[in-house]
Amino acid sequence: MNIVLLGAPGAGKGTQAKKLVENHSYLHLSTGDLLRAAVRNQTPLGLKAKAFMDAGDLVPDDLIINMVKERIQEDDAKNGVIFDGFPRTATQAVALDSELAELGQPLDFAILVDVNKEVIIGRLTSRRTCRECGYIGSDADASCPKCSGEMYQRDDDNEATVRNRLDVYERSTAPLIDYYRGKELLVTIDGDRPVDDVYADLVKALGL
Ligand code: AMP
Repeated sequence: MNIVLLGAPGAGKGTQAKKLVENHSYLHLSTGDLLRAAVRNQTPLGLKAKAFMDAGDLVPDDLIINMVKERIQEDDAKNGVIFDGFPRTATQAVALDSELAELGQPLDFAILVDVNKEVIIGRLTSRRTCRECGYIGSDADASCPKCSGEMYQRDDDNEATVRNRLDVYERSTAPLIDYYRGKELLVTIDGDRPVDDVYADLVKALGL
């Protein structure tokens, strides 16, 4: 099963994707995570992407599409992929459709994790992530509740960058909601609830 998770930054897409792959054998493909790893490892892609990410702008489509194409050809993508943070533009959405058609594994669902924009700024600026296991928590977590690793704040989770990321979302990514509605793949879930409640709806929507 191939699933796109749509929703504003901070909607909880990453948290839900992580829960899903804990219980099912899908690949969690987060373009943000892949890019952060590329930046950390100072690969040619990472060097090109860093300035866009620091500003909260989108990394150019061709770089993202190539990165995703390569990743979904690997063996661990065969059981299905949860796309988290991708596609973010119409060009990316069309490229994903044609790539999945070529692989003979079309998209099954586009899940919109719908959240109130007012709460997102607070959520993102207080977000902290575990350096060891990637757990997503908040500034209330002195250390990771899962593995005791160190919690850090992402470079782009400061208020100015968060505001730009939300503008970019409205401009470039929110139109994909209609794109997937038109393809009858869209399911909307209320993301303004506790993680486990959102997850219960997600599992139900996917028929798992
Ligand atoms: P995320 O972890 O999904 O919030 O992504 C962090 C940053 O990585 C974004 O603000 C963008 O700069 C970049 N990024 C991640 N995914 C994409 C994408 N699909 N298209 C363009 N840029 C992306």
